[in-house]
Amino acid sequence: MYDFDILVIGSGPSGQKAAIAATKLGRRVGVVDRRAMIGGVCINTGTIPSKTLREAVLYLSGLSQRDMYGQSYRLKDDVTMDDLSSRTQHVISRQIDVIRSQLARNRVTVINGTARFTDPHAVTVDDGTHHEAKYTAEKIIIAAGTRPARPDSVAFDDRNVIDSDGVLNLERIPRSMVVVGAGVIGIEYASMFAALGTKVTVVERRTRMLEFVDLEIIEALKYHLRDLSVTFRFGEEVATVEQHQGGAIATLVSGKRIAADTVMYSAGRQGVASELNLDAAGLAGDNRGRIKVDEHYRTDVPHIYAVGDVIGFPALASTSMEQGRMAAYHACDEPVHALMELQPIGIYTIPEISFVGKTEDELTEQQVPFEVGISRYRELARGQITGDAHGMLKLLVAPGDRSLLGVHVFGTGATELVHIGQAVMGCGGSVDYLVDAVFNYPTLAESYKVAALDAVNKMRHIDRLHG
Ligand SMILES: Cc1cc2nc3c(=O)[nH]c(=O)nc-3n(C[C@H](O)[C@H](O)[C@H](O)COP(=O)(O)OP(=O)(O)OC[C@H]3O[C@@H](n4cnc5c(N)ncnc54)[C@H](O)[C@@H]3O)c2cc1C
Repeated sequence: MYDFDILVIGSGPSGQKAAIAATKLGRRVGVVDRRAMIGGVCINTGTIPSKTLREAVLYLSGLSQRDMYGQSYRLKDDVTMDDLSSRTQHVISRQIDVIRSQLARNRVTVINGTARFTDPHAVTVDDGTHHEAKYTAEKIIIAAGTRPARPDSVAFDDRNVIDSDGVLNLERIPRSMVVVGAGVIGIEYASMFAALGTKVTVVERRTRMLEFVDLEIIEALKYHLRDLSVTFRFGEEVATVEQHQGGAIATLVSGKRIAADTVMYSAGRQGVASELNLDAAGLAGDNRGRIKVDEHYRTDVPHIYAVGDVIGFPALASTSMEQGRMAAYHACDEPVHALMELQPIGIYTIPEISFVGKTEDELTEQQVPFEVGISRYRELARGQITGDAHGMLKLLVAPGDRSLLGVHVFGTGATELVHIGQAVMGCGGSVDYLVDAVFNYPTLAESYKVAALDAVNKMRHIDRLHG
C-alpha cells in the first residue's frame, strides 16, 4: 500500500494542474514543494511578478497615455522599486492564497520541503530543518521546473550583476542597464526598464532577436524600443564584467566597453533534474537538467511522468498547465486528447506581441502562397480612444481555401485579441467568417474585420485581373 496514488514534485502550473486533475478523478494525491515556493517559479519569480511589474510600469510611467497628454506625461515623477514591488507582492500573495485554497478544497496533501528519489516509488522530503520524511506513491509526476542558467564565467553578486530572478530584489531602479540575451525574458525586462527611463543596452550573440516572431513586428518593436533609448548590440558577446564601487563595466568580445548600474543576464534556464537524485529512480537528466518523455509525458520508467519546464520546449506556463493535466489523465487511465498543435505565443514586451499559426517567413520558406490583410489601430475608433497609434493586426490567408494560416498582433491587448483568431483557426473557420461577423463597436476586436476585408479585397483584385 502506497502513501499516495499520485505524488507530484513541484507546485508550479504543471504540478498544480496535474494534482487537481488527479484528485478530481478520485485519486489520493500529494504535492511536494518548498514552503516559500508554492505556485512555483510562475507565481514567485517568473510569470506573475514580471507581468505585474509590467502593469505597474505602464500605469505609473503613464507611457500608454503619452500620445494623448504629451511626452512629459507621467502618473508619478519618481517611480521607485518599492512602488513596483508593493503591487507585485500584493498579487503574489493573493495568487498563493488562491492556489493553497484550491489544493485544500480538493483534498490534495501539500508536503513542504525538497524531494529526492530513494527508489522508483519513493522520495524523501527534507523540510529545510534537516528533518526528513519518506513518502511512497504508485505513480510520480515530476514537475520540478527550471532555474536561471548562470554562466561560470560571470561573477553574480545579486546587486550589480544579476539574473532574471534578481530583478525583483533590486533596491532601486537602475539609471543604466546591460541586458545580456535578447530572448523573451530579456526583452520583456529591457522594455519595462526602458519605459521607466533606464538607459538599456541589449547584447545578443545572434544577429537578430526572437526569430520565431513575424519580422515586421520585430522591426516595429525595435523601433519602439530605440525610441525609448534602448541600444541593440546584435552579433556581440559579453567577454567580462568588472564590478566597481558605483556599478559595473561590461566588456564585449569586440572590445567595446559599456558602463551600467546593473548587468542582467538572461542566458536561458537550466532544468533541475540533477537535484532529484534521478539515479535512484532509474532515470537520468540531460546536460541541461531536463528529462526526456514520450507523447504521454511518460519517462523511461513507465510509472514516472515529467511535465512543464523540466521537459524543455516550449517552457511556458500556458502549455505546462495542459501537460500537467494530460499526464495526470494518462496516469489515471482517463481518455485524453493530444495537446493541440495550434498554440498561441504571448510576449509581454511594451508594446506587447502575440501570434498563432505560421509567420510570413515560414510560409515563404515552405512555398505556401498567402495573402496579407492588415488593420492598424490608428484607423479604428477604439485605437484612437485608447491612444494606441502603433498597434496592428495582421492576418495571413490561404488564397485557395481562404483559411487563416496565421494571426499576428502588436500593441494594446495583443495577448487577449489573438485568441479570437485562434478560435477561428481551431474551428476550421475561414476569412469569410470574419468578413461576415458583426463585432462590438468601438473595439480593438474590430481589427479582425478590417484585416479580413483587406485580405479579401486583395484576393478579389487578383481574381478579377486573372479573369
Ligand atoms: C521572468 C519570467 C517570465 C515568464 N513569463 C511567462 C509568461 O508571460 N507566460 C508564460 O506562459 N510563461 C512565462 N514564463 C514561464 C513560466 O513561468 C514557466 O513556464 C512555468 O512556471 C513552468 O511551470 P512548471 O510547472 O514547469 O514549474 P515551475 O513554475 O518552474 O515550478 C517548479 C516548482 O518545483 C519545485 N521544485 C523543484 N525541485 C523540487 C524538489 N526537488 N522538491 C520539491 N519541489 C521542487 C520548485 O520549488 C518550484 O516551485 C516566465 C518565466 C520567467 C522566469
